[in-house]
Amino acid sequence: MDDLEQAVLSLRISHPDSTAKQIHELLVADRPDISLGQVKKASSKLAKRGAYNAQPPDQKPPAQAAASCGASPPDALPKPHNVRRPKGLPDLYPGPPPWLVDSETVLGDMAAKVGTPPVMMKMALGAYLHQRQSDERWRHLTHLYRGQEKTCLSVEEHGTKFTQAGYDFSKVLRVRPRPPPCAWYEAHDLLHATTSGLRMLKSGYVPPSPPLPRFCDYCKRQCTAECRCGEAYCDKDCQAMDWQNHREICETVADNAELAMSLTKQSWGAKGVLR
Ligand SMILES: [Zn+2]
Ligand SMILES: [Zn+2]
Repeated sequence: MDDLEQAVLSLRISHPDSTAKQIHELLVADRPDISLGQVKKASSKLAKRGAYNAQPPDQKPPAQAAASCGASPPDALPKPHNVRRPKGLPDLYPGPPPWLVDSETVLGDMAAKVGTPPVMMKMALGAYLHQRQSDERWRHLTHLYRGQEKTCLSVEEHGTKFTQAGYDFSKVLRVRPRPPPCAWYEAHDLLHATTSGLRMLKSGYVPPSPPLPRFCDYCKRQCTAECRCGEAYCDKDCQAMDWQNHREICETVADNAELAMSLTKQSWGAKGVLR
């Protein structure tokens, strides 16, 4: 988490009902170089990583800290209905891209059709596949810590959870002197500092079965549909309500993963499902 994300997260916690614009106004008092776009992007990244659901305990105001004990999810927003569709709102699909389930076969078939080696196809999809994998593991990690957001655990206990969620925690286990017990958030920062980011294990990761439930990025209810970029929404109403916040990151994903976007559209189109 970088400095700006940290600052946005702190303000989101201390001013839970504030908009990105209000957060920006609070921030520019100290950091006049920060743009509204950067604040929106940081907010969007934090939301995507579930940071608002698993905040560090010392940053929560007492009233919220008391309410957040245990595994209760954050309060859902009222479900929006009949929201006007903003221009450029992307497709919303019923679930993860069908081609992802058997990407090897799909890529092989496509490669044969267009005469491009499968390995080239895979390279073109590399960043998108990496992003999906990293989102899945982050959700797994926050799930493993649900209800233990405030608990101080030993480095070994953190190691077990991070490894189960598919992260390489081995370097932290070798740090001497051994770091003291800490909350998950500090363990995350420690891993980040020790390995310059969160490294995913190349092998041995077992995804949860059945898959973890997903929650709408707007109203926070459990849902299954997803935007072209992979963000989860209940329906077009929630997607439309969130579009102003979500647009920048969604367009960035779409621009960087054109092949994945067209495969997704094609594979849902072939199933006759486009909504
Ligand atoms: Zn929703
Ligand atoms: Zn999107």
